[in-house]
Amino acid sequence: MTVPADSAQFATQALHATHAVEAATPRATPIYLTAGFTFDSFDEAAAHFDGGTGFGYTRTGNPTVRAVENRLAALESGADALLVASGQAAVVTALLTVAGAGDHLVASTHIYEGSRGLFLDNLSRLGIDTDFVDDIADPDAWRALVRPNTRALFAESISNARNHVLDVASIARVGDESGIPLIVDNTLATPALIRPIESGAAIVVHSASKFLAGHGAVLGGVIVDSGRFDVSRNGHLFPHLVLPGRGGAASVAERHGSASRIAYAREVVAPRFGPTPSPLNAFLIGQGVETLALRVERQSENALAVARWLASHETVESVDYAGLESHPDHARAIGQLTGSHGSVFTFTVRGGEQAARRVIDAVGVFTHMTHIGDVRSLVLHPATTSHTLLTPAQRAQLGVHPGTLRVSIGIEDPADLISDLTQALSLVRTKGAVR
Ligand SMILES: *Cc1c(COP(=O)(O)O)cnc(C)c1O
Repeated sequence: MTVPADSAQFATQALHATHAVEAATPRATPIYLTAGFTFDSFDEAAAHFDGGTGFGYTRTGNPTVRAVENRLAALESGADALLVASGQAAVVTALLTVAGAGDHLVASTHIYEGSRGLFLDNLSRLGIDTDFVDDIADPDAWRALVRPNTRALFAESISNARNHVLDVASIARVGDESGIPLIVDNTLATPALIRPIESGAAIVVHSASKFLAGHGAVLGGVIVDSGRFDVSRNGHLFPHLVLPGRGGAASVAERHGSASRIAYAREVVAPRFGPTPSPLNAFLIGQGVETLALRVERQSENALAVARWLASHETVESVDYAGLESHPDHARAIGQLTGSHGSVFTFTVRGGEQAARRVIDAVGVFTHMTHIGDVRSLVLHPATTSHTLLTPAQRAQLGVHPGTLRVSIGIEDPADLISDLTQALSLVRTKGAVR
């Protein structure tokens, strides 16, 4: 129905006059900032609700969001992707897609603190228990914790704060032995450095707030699925995917086969819990992704220069960066990552918390904030911020000491980063904090 402009009253015209989107072929991704989409016919509406065709309401799908999902699925070598409102939303959506009450998960100890809290405080209250693996390089350490009710393995490709590099293929094999997915949080590495699905991971998640968006302006998260769910072999472990739906409806597996996991995430988990991304944020993530390769290359180069410089500085006790030959996972980083080693790492200054405080208070080019993967260089003191809830012993196990600083290196000129650190670390020295 069209509303004749000349016959309607002003209030009606204000809503309906000239409502028509002109056809055109935009080169940039258009931002469909709309709660929902008009149905052209009775039958179109029914088809949308029946088979999920087209777009109806932005919580269940939006063309801008879909365009970014398709791009991210391609970049991660996945079959399909689901964009959500934050990295935390991506992690919880991925986990609730495979696990429910009575199930069990095995996760790396070396993960983002927000993810650890999710396992320990939230999923535990939903009846999902988690065991943690410390020596994540040892497949037997993972295997030993897998039980009949384990439904996923979870780890980060490059971990914060120790910069462990995951041997994706061998841990994915442990999952395959039991028919369960390895879920890899690829936030720190990004698909520019590693595509875990190519090495056997079933699901990749990201905080898109970090490198994918890249400019520290928006939050987002993504779940990418390999599309390799084996219904006949592993379906019995995931009854919610293979049993008929409410009222005897066709099961997810009947309708989506090897893409059942991501279909369930898209149809049942994300739209019900509701972590819907804004189409505007999706656009900014999509725009960020266009320069991802360039940024990661420059940030990794800068990070290596800064890490080498720090490693030779007399006030620095240690540097945990996989790009340095001294790092225990350096060989794995060379083998798994495509040429460079990322740009988020930690270093520990002599003199403990007081020395760390002086550095934080003195930096000028580095921004003091809790974020990573930004085009700007950032610094944070984990022991008193992100890791403050842990005991000193737990922090030490994770490589977070009183003098440890976490940096995320940006795209500035590296000389300016080093001169900023030079003046900041000189305060550590001159104020006698060196042991
Ligand atoms: C930041 C981060 C998250 C959480 O992402 P948000 O977008 O902040 O919700 C998850 N995993 C890793 C590795 C992160 O760095």
